[in-house]
Amino acid sequence: MSERKTIYLCLAHMSEEGWEQKYVKEAFDTNWVVPMGPNVNAFEKDLEEFVNDVRCQKEDVRCEPLDRKVVCLSAGTAAVHLALIACGVKAGDEVLVQSYTFCASSHPITYLGAKPVFVGSEGETWNMDPVLLEEAIKDRIAKTGKKPAAIVPVALYGMPYKIDEIMEIADRYGIPVVEDAAEGMGSRFDGKVLGTFGKYGVLSFNGNKMITTSGGGALICRSAEDANEIMWYATQARDAYPYYQHTAIGYNYRMSNVCAGIGRGQMKVVNDHIAHHKHVQALYEELLKDVKGVHIHKQPADPRYDANFWLCAATLDPEVRIQGQENAYKEVIKTAVGGAAGVIHQVDSATTDCQPNENVEALRVFMLGKKIEARPTWKPMHKQPVYAGAPVYTNGIEEKLFKVGSCLPAGPYVTDEDVRYIVESIKEAIVG
Ligand SMILES: *Cc1c(COP(=O)(O)O)cnc(C)c1O
Repeated sequence: MSERKTIYLCLAHMSEEGWEQKYVKEAFDTNWVVPMGPNVNAFEKDLEEFVNDVRCQKEDVRCEPLDRKVVCLSAGTAAVHLALIACGVKAGDEVLVQSYTFCASSHPITYLGAKPVFVGSEGETWNMDPVLLEEAIKDRIAKTGKKPAAIVPVALYGMPYKIDEIMEIADRYGIPVVEDAAEGMGSRFDGKVLGTFGKYGVLSFNGNKMITTSGGGALICRSAEDANEIMWYATQARDAYPYYQHTAIGYNYRMSNVCAGIGRGQMKVVNDHIAHHKHVQALYEELLKDVKGVHIHKQPADPRYDANFWLCAATLDPEVRIQGQENAYKEVIKTAVGGAAGVIHQVDSATTDCQPNENVEALRVFMLGKKIEARPTWKPMHKQPVYAGAPVYTNGIEEKLFKVGSCLPAGPYVTDEDVRYIVESIKEAIVG
């Protein structure tokens, strides 16, 4: 038997026709090897078509497409950063952000000298709890005399947030919403794509996201004027003189025309990718339904929810015993989970004061032995040492979920046979 290949969480997947290479070659052939050009413009058009498409929920209503504009940028993190700037976030301001997320949702707040105020999750979508959001707004106004400058909900693993409730609160208080839909490309709520509800919507095309440009991101904007302003900030904020004249601090955040070539090719398969992620989720739901103590994270029954299931998340009940559990956290880890690129600081302790339960860690190690990459869910930002002391409004749900949660492989490379093997491996790992 040939040796089994590792099943990764989510890998970049190029179109079988090689569209990506064709558009990249075009960039070279026309010498548009710069952070602008025909591929960038065409990728933006493709993205606009994608985000403006509205799927009618009721048959008797004709849905008009939206008219959002999209600006391509060098990263999703850059998109969050520029969205906050365009919302007028300044040093000393407070920004309300979902705590249960990847660090790129909150770090750009601190780039601006502003302060993140973390909002906890509700148990249904695992995303920003609208009740806690309003509580936080009221309390911040009472404590600081000032309204928070923006609200950043996050589509964790692609699951739509309770956007109708969040928008209602945001509008009532007149606070702009920056939707972090980096993981939720193509997820919909009430027929509309995530990122089109707020003032701005963030997309990411990092190597492991729904589609990739190797690295890149985009900002969905409500108007051509907003898009223009983002584009201005993304290209060093220059004024119209025959020399470089600056009236604001800008950034070098525009997307490369080479990367945009990859993106154009990926747009030809994005709907296939989304369909495959949903298929894998459905198979996990079916195969795990009788496994005691293991629960796959499902979307709410409300038909307005239409998640892309970028990653499949599961929880493991604390009383489930896993093979090798007695050894969990005994050794200091030498690398970061996630095969993270770059430099990772070495640590001298194997544990922190907030970490997944021992059985969850044991399952991760067991699965790795089976050549399956399982990964803890994002550690809540208010539990990160770097954000010690930041205000937080929570019911403790995201911390509980972090302790029991695991992400399972879900990309286009994951076959039905892989899902069966993954589920069999989970069953094998359970001792009782
Ligand atoms: C990936 C991600 C981002 C940032 O995107 P990059 O393109 O990697 O900079 C932002 N927010 C969330 C929740 C993400 O998962």
